[in-house]
Formats: sequence, C-alpha cells, structure tokens
Amino acid sequence: MSRVIFYSPHPDDETLSMGLAMVYYIAAGFDVHLVSMSNGEAAGVANTLNGSANGTPVVCSTPADHPYIHSPAREGYAPLTAADIGDARIAEARSTLGAMAMVPPTTPGVTGTVTHHIAGLPAEFGDPGSTSSTSPPTAAGIAAAKAVIKQYVDDYPNSFHYTMSPADHHHDHAACGLALRELKNDTVNIVPGGTNTYHDALVNARFFVSRLYWAISQPDGQYQQDLLTAANGTLAWFNAGARYTIYRDWLRNQVVKPYRAWNPAAGAYGVGYHQVVSQFTNNFGPSASIANLWHA
Ligand SMILES: [Zn+2]
Repeated sequence: MSRVIFYSPHPDDETLSMGLAMVYYIAAGFDVHLVSMSNGEAAGVANTLNGSANGTPVVCSTPADHPYIHSPAREGYAPLTAADIGDARIAEARSTLGAMAMVPPTTPGVTGTVTHHIAGLPAEFGDPGSTSSTSPPTAAGIAAAKAVIKQYVDDYPNSFHYTMSPADHHHDHAACGLALRELKNDTVNIVPGGTNTYHDALVNARFFVSRLYWAISQPDGQYQQDLLTAANGTLAWFNAGARYTIYRDWLRNQVVKPYRAWNPAAGAYGVGYHQVVSQFTNNFGPSASIANLWHA
C-alpha cells in the first residue's frame, strides 16, 4: 500500500494537525492526496482583511505582521467577500501542499507525488446554519462528509485514509472523523459473497488530534475523556523516525509560509495566520515541538 489520502476539514488543518505525517509520506515516496473538504469561506476574517465590520473599524489580528487596520483601497485589493476568503484559503492549501512536495526525499531522486482535491462542502458543513463551531455535528453533516470520503475510498482502493478525530470539538472536524469511522465500521460487500471491501481498505484508518486538545488536564489524565474514549487505548505520537529534524525544519521554514504570505495584489492574504495565528505559533514557533498525535 503506497497511497495516503488526507481529508482536511478546512484549509490549514492538513498543516496544523497532519503536517508532519504528510511530509513524512511524501519524503518516503508515497502517492499523497490532500482532500480539502471545504473551502472555509468565512465572513469574520473578511471583516478583518477589509478593516471594517459594518462600518466599525477592525484592527488586524496579526499585529506582528500588520500593526494597523487594513485598508483595501490603500493596500491594493477589492474588499473581500466570504467566498473570496474560501478561494484564498484553497490557494493557500495548494501552495502549502507544493511546499510539502519539495521536502528532501528519504531516498535521493525518489520523490512522492501529490494531488490536491477540492471537495467543496459548504461552510460549517458539520452543522449547517450553526453560529457556534463547537456545536455537535448533525447526522446530515456526518452524511455529507461520508459521501465525499466514500467516493475516494471507492476510487482509490488499497490506500491509507486519514482525517481528524471524531472527538474534535469543531463540528466540521468531528463530522469528518465520525464519517470515516462509520465507513470503517460499515459492513458492505462490494462483491456479492466476497470480502468486506470497505473494512479491508479502512482497517488502517487513523484520526489526528488537534494540538488544542493535547494538554487539557482532566482528573484521570492528560487528555479529555471524550478523546480517550474515541481513541480506546490507541493514542500515539506519529513516528517520523530519524529524519524528524529535517521534517520539523521544512515545516517551520517552508511549509507554513503560504498561510502567512501577504501579497494581496496576487490574491495572497495570509488567511491562515489571520484566523488562527496562535495555533500556527504554538505548532511551528521556534521553540515548539512539531508532532502529530493520532489514534485508530
Ligand atoms: Zn493583517
């Protein structure tokens, strides 16, 4: 099995929560696919980049880069819509996948391939219409994610399939995790009387845990009980092997750049950093360990 498919709920999750694994597999010569489940269109960050929310000034959320209120007229771009944000985020993900693709390979000259798929699920697909990202995913939200993932399971047999943990508190992340887990547990005979094809393909499905949930202390241990329940004893650090420092430096110095790049005339708005600068800093700052936590 030499193909790996990463299902990222939004552009940036593949880097924040699966980045070490992605560069590891690319460096090892695997055929790596990134499925961006949604574009991540969002009105809030559009207000930040427009410098205004209904006429009220909005100070930039990344003062280390932009210690001011953004001005599209002065900085050279048209005010952004929520859909523009989705387009910009997808472009950031594609550029990031490209940066991952150039990681020094384990065997010189043997480079993994990369493919970017854009599934186009709507914003907040895990719980459509919700005003809170941490509301539980709905049955319809899980079904929407499952329909997307099932297509890739069908199209790419004998692959590894990875996404976010079902215990993630963002409903889009949880919807992806629950969808992949449902597919893993579904008993479907593709060939009448034959083997359980879905189960066979998905026996190695894995679920990544956002760093947001790594250090939330609970009376019975480091992790939250819902995560421990979902993992059922299988929580483990992704083992990047002896080349960890190569991957760490590549992620820190190359891969994250498209999520920070500010070049508005070229359509680059650094949406990733504007949205979750603390997550990027905590994951890729100079003193941060670069690790991925996952479970079966
Ligand atoms: Zn800014």
